Amino acid sequence: MIEQEFADLYYPTADDFMEYLPGLDCGNCGFSTCFDYATSLSNKTSQTICTECEEKIANLLLAISNFHVEPLPFNVMMEQAKCQVIPIGLPDRNSPLIVTCNFVETVRILTDLLIATKAKVYLLPTFTHGYSVDNAVHEKMFKALEVWKAMQENNVENLLGHNTLIIPGLAEKERNNIKQLTKWNVEVGPVSGFLLPVYLEGVKLR
Ligand code: SF4
Repeated sequence: MIEQEFADLYYPTADDFMEYLPGLDCGNCGFSTCFDYATSLSNKTSQTICTECEEKIANLLLAISNFHVEPLPFNVMMEQAKCQVIPIGLPDRNSPLIVTCNFVETVRILTDLLIATKAKVYLLPTFTHGYSVDNAVHEKMFKALEVWKAMQENNVENLLGHNTLIIPGLAEKERNNIKQLTKWNVEVGPVSGFLLPVYLEGVKLR
């Protein structure tokens, strides 16, 4: 059996959460600074929301913080998910298309997170030999060709009324290759997949 090392969950840090907070340090959330609140979100100890954010964003940040995920073992076997599009939350033609790897744990965690945060999306695992995104990028296994193949095999053009796909932040350097091959707009999502639900609130689909 092949093993992959360093598969990491990339749980959001306080700095990651700060990107979505207004930075007013008003204290309404029960913390004297936004950074203290962001730290509590990252530590999963917060029960309050930011009153100065848009309500939906504030609730999503807390839901992401409260989302329970088991840690991955250090060496995990490369169990592969099928490269089949997964509709989550009854998506429609205006829903985002999120591309990920075909590491079964990544697909499971992202699916659970997106369900828990009531997202309406299509999740598309692409063939990376079962490597997680970070390992796949490192091993040059997150390939534009595989993204294109998964899109063709799943007929995504007929599912969607737009031509935008979202790739993982860790795969940013593949963006241009994917764009050239698929002829689609390629948006780069957050490095931490846990932040996808809040990232999706601001993404433009063309
Ligand atoms: S309520 Fe929002 S803006 Fe005010 S301190 Fe808390 S996180 Fe910052």
